Amino acid sequence: MTTTSHALDVERIRADFPILSTVLHAAPKRPGVQLAYLDNAATTQRPQQVIQAIVDTYEKHYANVHRGIHWLSDQSTDLYEDARGKVQSLIGAPTREEVIFTHGTTESINLVARSWGDANLKPTDEILLTEMEHHSNIVPWQQAAARTGAIVRFLPITDDGQLALGALDQFLTPRTRIVAVAAIPNVLGTINPLSEIIVRAHQAGALVLVDAAQSVPHQHTDVQALGADFLVFSGHKMLGPSGVGVLFGRRELLEAMPPFLGGGSMIRRVTTALFEPAELPAKFEAGTPPIVSAIGLGAAIDYLQQLGMDAIQAHERLLCTRAHEVLSSVGGLKFLGPTPERKSGIVSFTLDRVHAHDVAQLLDRQGIAVRAGHHCAMPLHKRLGINASTRASFYFYNTLDEVERLGTALDEIKRIFRRK
Ligand code: PLP
Repeated sequence: MTTTSHALDVERIRADFPILSTVLHAAPKRPGVQLAYLDNAATTQRPQQVIQAIVDTYEKHYANVHRGIHWLSDQSTDLYEDARGKVQSLIGAPTREEVIFTHGTTESINLVARSWGDANLKPTDEILLTEMEHHSNIVPWQQAAARTGAIVRFLPITDDGQLALGALDQFLTPRTRIVAVAAIPNVLGTINPLSEIIVRAHQAGALVLVDAAQSVPHQHTDVQALGADFLVFSGHKMLGPSGVGVLFGRRELLEAMPPFLGGGSMIRRVTTALFEPAELPAKFEAGTPPIVSAIGLGAAIDYLQQLGMDAIQAHERLLCTRAHEVLSSVGGLKFLGPTPERKSGIVSFTLDRVHAHDVAQLLDRQGIAVRAGHHCAMPLHKRLGINASTRASFYFYNTLDEVERLGTALDEIKRIFRRK
């Protein structure tokens, strides 16, 4: 079966990704199998254009940023700041200064929980999370609660993996100071009704942090239309290098927040007695930032925008829908999360009487890379009454053939375990 959706020429796109042509598990009398990379929610692969941007930077433009009064430093600074502008345009941020480069989603959330949280949370204040969050959007808030006396609460989910919005009024109280919620959770793939949550949180007087690690790479994002107060994501889940992430924050919030990390670059002035913080965004970018990773992220954004976020989302929906069709005929397979029209390209499941790790290992023998375990979402798995699950997660370079291979391999695994 071929691999095209209306707008994307996936075969041509795949030629940009050297790693996708990997053949693995070859042995003297065995030809090996073609890699089917279905672990994109963990991290994506990089096209040649991003790899080349990284090589070019090291070969031609590399120096430390914002420091040197020399030509090379100016070059490097320009490229780094261009990357910030590309992020600004990708997410519709009002100004560049509201785009902070961090090392990833995890650091971005820790920054807000530490800086905004410590300055604003008081005993009995409430932080509202949901049962579908990644540990990165749980633990920093538990730590903030431990420091400030605030209370962490969890909006429940329904059995089919959606937020129980009917309970939101009960969970949004006059004490709720912030709601931190995934736009798309990393196991269930649910496309959460963010606009509604944000409106209702604001009506209740709470701020909203959007964990967009699984949404910015896969769909159009507009922080102004959403009304998000903070929005965070990682470069490595959207074709960029690892080690760079983004915090968007509304200017007035960021300006009022104390710096997170102290050191070089984040100051206007230092004496032996005190320091004055720099303006945004430098105030939150202490030390040498992830220069080349940010420039690589800029190249990744160029690549994504050339394809078009809507076309990317449409292709992933095609794959997800087909995966649901193909996998529903695998005996004993149970999907986690809602039906395809309500989710992104994440398909998590359990297989009756087969541990998720065995599933993933046997799929790997067929060259199919998926993730197995609790996926950094232990509270979610507890809520669902399971210890682990298997997750296939698609990106725009995946094909319908790969979906068919996944289905065939799972059928085979089921047969093996039935014989045991
Ligand atoms: N939030 C969500 C929804 C995620 O999927 C992930 C990573 O899987 C994270 C946060 C953490 O991202 P990172 O490890 O890049 O900091």
